[in-house]
Amino acid sequence: MSFSSTVKEELLRALPEKGCCMLSEISAYTQSIASLRLAGGGRVKVVYETENSALAKRIFLLLKKRLEITASLSFTRYARLGGRRGCILTVNEQDSRHLLVSLRMLREEESGSVFKGVPRAAMTRRCCRAAFVRAAFLGAGSVQDPEHGYHLEFVTSQSKAEILTGILEKSNLSWGMTDRRGSKLVYIRKGDDVVSCLALMGAHQALMEMENVRILRASRNQANRATNCDQANLNKQLSAGARQAAAITAYSLRHSLGGLPKDLQEIGRLRMLNPDVSLEELGKMLSEPVGKSGANHKMRKLMQIIDADEKA
Ligand SMILES: [Zn+2]
Repeated sequence: MSFSSTVKEELLRALPEKGCCMLSEISAYTQSIASLRLAGGGRVKVVYETENSALAKRIFLLLKKRLEITASLSFTRYARLGGRRGCILTVNEQDSRHLLVSLRMLREEESGSVFKGVPRAAMTRRCCRAAFVRAAFLGAGSVQDPEHGYHLEFVTSQSKAEILTGILEKSNLSWGMTDRRGSKLVYIRKGDDVVSCLALMGAHQALMEMENVRILRASRNQANRATNCDQANLNKQLSAGARQAAAITAYSLRHSLGGLPKDLQEIGRLRMLNPDVSLEELGKMLSEPVGKSGANHKMRKLMQIIDADEKA
């Protein structure tokens, strides 16, 4: 099962306890996966559509518990999605009116005129903000498997994106937004914020799972950095040796090495033959072997002579 499904399964396990949060969740679904079907005479029907039957059941229960609305359930098959089954919850005209007024999406006195918005509570109370984000995620969200990186996203429309990002902002979560096939994509990309968002939604088990992966990844990265560091030193050593060999070869073509002090001639010749060994190893190859600092000293002297000659 994908990490997204694990998170959703956990979130679907319990209904919110408070009435305010139930309404906030219903509001989020109404704005993300519902459509308003005109029924003539300014009347509308609210229709929720989802492939997730557990989510359809949740919306059904929330409508029942919070607003005493009984939606009717039917199924459809999406030809474009390989014949996958979709669940459709339809709220009748009278209940739709009650629903939209409760959500402050419809003003009582102006029949038929639709007013977009969320219940005030969804923005002011933390519990309701959490419920809204949770529902937005259940309706049209996904989260990347933490093994592959940190990315949580919500697919939404322009007007709904504003509400969602306002709520993310209030919850101190940094977000970004982009277009995707005519929809808005609101995403969270920082590891800490993905964790905070899971915490806000109440996906505590998934959060633990993600933290475990984060710890593993951090220690793996540390090990990789150490390996890369060794590799960098090795590269430095290789290129320093190769640079010395090239400089010595160029010098010997100009002057021959014969005019140099004997010990410098010897280490110079050895370097030309062995561009990729360390100075320590080079020191051991000398007729009178020296240690690392001895070899370093000789090589520095030789390179000073060559540098001075190049500049002259
Ligand atoms: Zn609440």
